[in-house]
Amino acid sequence: MTEARRRIDVAEAAALIRARLTGWGTVRVPLDAAQGEILRQAITAERDQPPFDRVTMDGIAIRCRDFGSETRRFAVTGTQAAGRPALSLPAGATCVAIMTGAALPEGADTVVPVERVTRDGPAATIADSYQPVPGQFIHRRASDHRRGETLLASGTLLGAPEMAILTVGGTDTVEVARRPAITVVSTGDELVDVGQPLGPTQIRSSNDRAIAAALATRGFIDCDRLHLPDDRALLETALGELLAEQDVLILTGGVSMGEFDYVPQVLLALGMELVFHKVLQRPGMPLWFGVSPAGKPVFALPGNPVSSLVCLVRYVAPALVAALGAVPRPDVIVRLDRHVQFEPDLTYFLPVTLRYGADGECLATPKPTNTSGDFVALGGTDGFVELPRGMSEFAPGYTARFYGW
Ligand code: AMP
Ligand code: MG
Repeated sequence: MTEARRRIDVAEAAALIRARLTGWGTVRVPLDAAQGEILRQAITAERDQPPFDRVTMDGIAIRCRDFGSETRRFAVTGTQAAGRPALSLPAGATCVAIMTGAALPEGADTVVPVERVTRDGPAATIADSYQPVPGQFIHRRASDHRRGETLLASGTLLGAPEMAILTVGGTDTVEVARRPAITVVSTGDELVDVGQPLGPTQIRSSNDRAIAAALATRGFIDCDRLHLPDDRALLETALGELLAEQDVLILTGGVSMGEFDYVPQVLLALGMELVFHKVLQRPGMPLWFGVSPAGKPVFALPGNPVSSLVCLVRYVAPALVAALGAVPRPDVIVRLDRHVQFEPDLTYFLPVTLRYGADGECLATPKPTNTSGDFVALGGTDGFVELPRGMSEFAPGYTARFYGW
């Protein structure tokens, strides 16, 4: 048996895939198009934050030592709105009416909230019960960060907080990972898409939709779907053309031992390097992974719907995300809420629903499918847990790695 034909375990398969996915470069996009993408540059602060001594309350700005001489009544010498140049506080018992977000007037050092002040025309009187605290309600210049400081590192997923942070980098475009062009190819003579008439022994093609949805959830929206029959010559021509155009191919079906399972031989005929075929797992044993002469990854997933989606979520999606240069996220760990028995010496991917126990722990309730064709049983599940080889009993409370759909 050649090295690539050896059955390997799950961790080895994942590592072999990751080692062969090197990414698709970067692209500069407008900020509006950056949400959900992987940042591929460092973002540094354009200015100090705050860029001036920023007032954090509506009220009056005073010089605290004027108050120290028991003065509670201050002459209002001006009004300072947000966005306006800072006024100056004249000498004596004076104040400036001030708004949240405004720059602290020159000479002022304390803000008294409007709720503590009575205003009568040209004067403002601080309530008897209130003792101003020097320096209070002022967000000092550069107290959050300094100009030139790194705010976001390359590899960051651009979520809601990061979209806000990008704006203080001072540019309206940003360098992000380029997403690959992906085609999901369903193979099988029996498959018919929705909207087409269905013969008695034909079935709806469903794998491609589940796979495209799982990819879209992770931001891979440039994803075509295509159906090809179990025809060796036709597969070779069509896959050859796709390999020339696309960055990644994800095939389902035709990778097992059946007489019409042409996919592995066709891929080899196209010059692909076989990295591995078959992983010690259930479902999804026949998983095939190879790389084209031009270095393009091809995943050939088993046709059974549960197998194909599990393989996509366990291997393909994380490898694609990692290849974008994303900083790795911690594994999600959950506890089984009941006993599970599994005899074969294979890693077991078991669909589950999640809930929280009384102590706040995340618990997984097994929802085994009838067969690996029983994709309807996945409805309402959250994902699956990975139960390792070499064990056959998993007690309630067993901690397992969880993969969400
Ligand atoms: P195969 O791996 O080609 O032997 O297919 C295994 C099983 O999965 C067969 O029952 C196929 O009909 C079914 N299957 C293959 N591809 C799809 C698909 N795209 N959608 C739904 N079922 C499929
Ligand atoms: Mg088939």
